[in-house]
Amino acid sequence: MYKAKYWKKIDNQEILCLLCPRSCRIGDGQRGHCFVRKNINSQLYLETYGRASSIAIDPIEKKPLYHFLPGSSVFSFGTVGCNLSCLFCQNWQISSVYDTSLLSHNLSPVQIAENAVKYNTKSVAFTYNEPLIFMEYAMDAAVECHARNIKTIAVSNGYMNIKPAREFYTQMDAANIDLKSFSDDFYQKYTDSSIKPVLKLLEYLSQQKKVWIEVTTLLIQGYNDNDIEIKMLCKWIHEHMGPDTPLHLSAFHPDYKFNHVQKTSLNTLIKARQIALSQGLKFVYTGNIIHDETESTICPNCQTTVIQRHGFSVLKVSISSDGKCNYCTSFIPGYYE
Ligand code: SF4
Repeated sequence: MYKAKYWKKIDNQEILCLLCPRSCRIGDGQRGHCFVRKNINSQLYLETYGRASSIAIDPIEKKPLYHFLPGSSVFSFGTVGCNLSCLFCQNWQISSVYDTSLLSHNLSPVQIAENAVKYNTKSVAFTYNEPLIFMEYAMDAAVECHARNIKTIAVSNGYMNIKPAREFYTQMDAANIDLKSFSDDFYQKYTDSSIKPVLKLLEYLSQQKKVWIEVTTLLIQGYNDNDIEIKMLCKWIHEHMGPDTPLHLSAFHPDYKFNHVQKTSLNTLIKARQIALSQGLKFVYTGNIIHDETESTICPNCQTTVIQRHGFSVLKVSISSDGKCNYCTSFIPGYYE
């Protein structure tokens, strides 16, 4: 048990958690919606500090991050629990199953950073389940990573209050944040949350310009893939985050409580990508289905392929370490070595 941040005492030994907009009121001995933050004798604790459920060395393209150290490996780990309840969750085995016995690896912040060095990865990703709910653990690990010149990455649903987010993101170098739909009705019905805090966070991080941000929308046919909604979502990204923001349009696979819903087709992704490009976004990628043409990076100026991908593999990078296209020297936003 590790003392948690961002909460206050209210009446009857209850605690109000201030970490995310869910604002759980947690009675003595009870847990918040995310399961891992627990009230013990009117103090809030994080139960998953120093314990991981899943560890892997992934290609960074799997996060997905396409403009941050392309072609590199990332030491990835996650814990359990989530502050959202997405019926279509693709990682529900750890995010929606409230069982701390899944935390089978003891892994201190120092060990995380040392493992990243040992396995020759350039970064560590806090991923698989929502990192905000284990922010104390992730931030301590990030400090150890930075001391060893390892970059840090958050893969997040973006549903957090700005005050803790401000602190959390001081320790992150890059993030991939979900924008699950552009409909609040979708957020309410299928994720048990709301869109407004997510938009607020995306806008905040874009304005700060300190963390490299990419956005992912998991397209689910018949639920969030209508043309008007995609157009609105892309228009919002263009206006509030800028046309250089990479957008990943990923295919849904039937899972969890959406087992009855069909897998998203490549045609649906390609059509959505066309809409995104027509709204002025420069870097729009399809994901979760192999299709070289729409998962490679094209220089917006000379139209040459500057990063050629096949699934999670990077076949070619033609961008200099200062971010210039090798063919026409125009700037390709991102972080390269
Ligand atoms: S972080 Fe967890 S406990 Fe805190 S408000 Fe969000 S869901 Fe509730």
